Order: sequence, then structure tokens, then C-alpha cells
Amino acid sequence: SSVIHLEQIRKSYFIGKNELPVLKGVSLDIFKNEYVALMGPSGSGKSTLMNILGALDTPTSGKYVLSGHDVSRMEDNELARIRNQEIGFVFQQFNLMPRLSALENVAVPLIYAGISKRDREEKARLMLEKVGLGDRYKHKPNELSGGQCQRVAIARALVNDPSLILADEPTGNLDTKTSIEIMEIFGKIHASGNTVVLVTHEEDIAAHARRIIRLRDGLIESDKLNEIREAVS
Ligand code: ADP
Ligand code: ADP
Repeated sequence: SSVIHLEQIRKSYFIGKNELPVLKGVSLDIFKNEYVALMGPSGSGKSTLMNILGALDTPTSGKYVLSGHDVSRMEDNELARIRNQEIGFVFQQFNLMPRLSALENVAVPLIYAGISKRDREEKARLMLEKVGLGDRYKHKPNELSGGQCQRVAIARALVNDPSLILADEPTGNLDTKTSIEIMEIFGKIHASGNTVVLVTHEEDIAAHARRIIRLRDGLIESDKLNEIREAVS
């Protein structure tokens, strides 16, 4: 079944009376356990589309159904609930809470889910082990490397068992070697049944995905299986 169903999504920004159309009718389906890279030149609408996919913003018109929920018709409070339940976010800047330990950062989404402290910590610990940071759970973000911070962010994204993982330039702040390690983790996340959509402008990073969607001027320019990746796996 579709995790993401988009029908003729349009999004305009209004600057005074001037309408700036950014998404001009984007339709697509992403199914369970797909691994999609979203590419396109700067200004093509990738971030705008990711914000809509992440229920951070609503389209000007069109329909978005996320795991059976019609997100395009939701009020802000409902959107917040859906975001927390259905989506795990990974950002370029990690967006960790600086005063919280790795463990506490990973446990944050579970607070909203109403889970007891003991269970939160147990789950968070398990997730940190999954991303290879089991021994660093007490460390704060400034005591961790960029790659380790991104592992914490990935663990946080996974802890609620969301139906969709959205990653916006997740290796944008990392060196090549660390980027490859992070992409290996995304590979494992996908292999364990998750649905992953990541934005990148790097072909080497997109090459890890199974499907590559290219945006241009607010429209889908191409949408193809990644044949190289299909052949080697
Ligand atoms: P990309 O992520 O592909 O670089 P964006 O979605 O960030 O593209 O931006 C697409 C276009 O929308 C750009 O022309 C950008 O300047 C414009 N834009 C993005 N966000 C806003 C905003 N909040 N207000 C006005 N214009 C915006
Ligand atoms: P950029 O790609 O421009 O560096 P980010 O990827 O960090 O921006 O953030 C993309 C959008 O998500 C922004 O609009 C930001 O306000 C929002 N955002 C950032 N952190 C979170 C978070 N933890 N939960 C929900 N939304 C967030």
C-alpha cells in the first residue's frame, strides 16, 4: 500500500500580491519499503516538497494521503500528532538538543507518545545500539563527532517506529568517509523494512537509493528505478 500518495500538489508562496508558484502539480506514490532519493537543482522545490511530505507545511491545493491519513485537510494540531506518529526526520544540521545526552535526545519523541521513562530509556538504548552508538549514550552532542551526532538523530527518527523516514541532505555536513558510514546505516534501515525518502544533490549519495525522482521547476522531470543499485544488490 502507499505510504505517500500525492495528487496534483501545488504550492505557491505569496510575496505581497505576487504569487510565486513553487510546486506546479506533483503527483506520485511511494510504497512501503521503498528507498527514494529526491534530486533536482537548487530552487526546484525539493525543500518545499519535503516540508509537505513531512506535514510541516500544507499544499496550496492538491491531495496528500500519508499512510491512509488525508494530511492535506488537517488542522495544525492533527498535523503535529501525525508528524510524531508517522514520520522520523533526519536533518543536515542534526537538530539535536545540546543539553540532553544522546539517550535523552533519542527518547524525546517517546515523551509525546506517553511512554514511561523506564520504557523510553530502554527503547532509546536499543536504538542507539542499532546505529552503533551503544557505548556513547551518556554523551552530549558537543562530545560527539558529526557522524556520531547523525547516528543519534537517526536513532531518534526510528524510535517511534514511524511509517516514513525523511532525510534532508543527511550527509551534507559530513566528510566522505563518514557519509559512506551514514549511508550504510540508511541501507540497513531500508533493509529492515522501512520506507526512506532522502533529499540530496550528490549523485554518489543518490546512488544508494532504489528509485530516483528528479524535480525541475516545480515538476517531476524523471522518476526511475536506480538500475545500477538494482543490479549490484
Ligand atoms: P530547493 O530545496 O530545491 O532548493 P526550495 O523548495 O527551497 O527549493 O525553493 C523553491 C523556490 O521557492 C525558490 O525560488 C525559493 O526562493 C522559494 N521559497 C522557498 N521557501 C520560501 C518561502 N518561505 N517564502 C518565499 N519563497 C520561498
Ligand atoms: P535546511 O535544509 O534549510 O538546513 P532543515 O532541514 O534543518 O533546514 O529543516 C527543514 C525544516 O524543518 C525547517 O522548516 C525547520 O523549521 C523544520 N524542522 C527543523 N527541525 C525540526 C524538528 N526537529 N521537528 C520538526 N521540524 C523541524
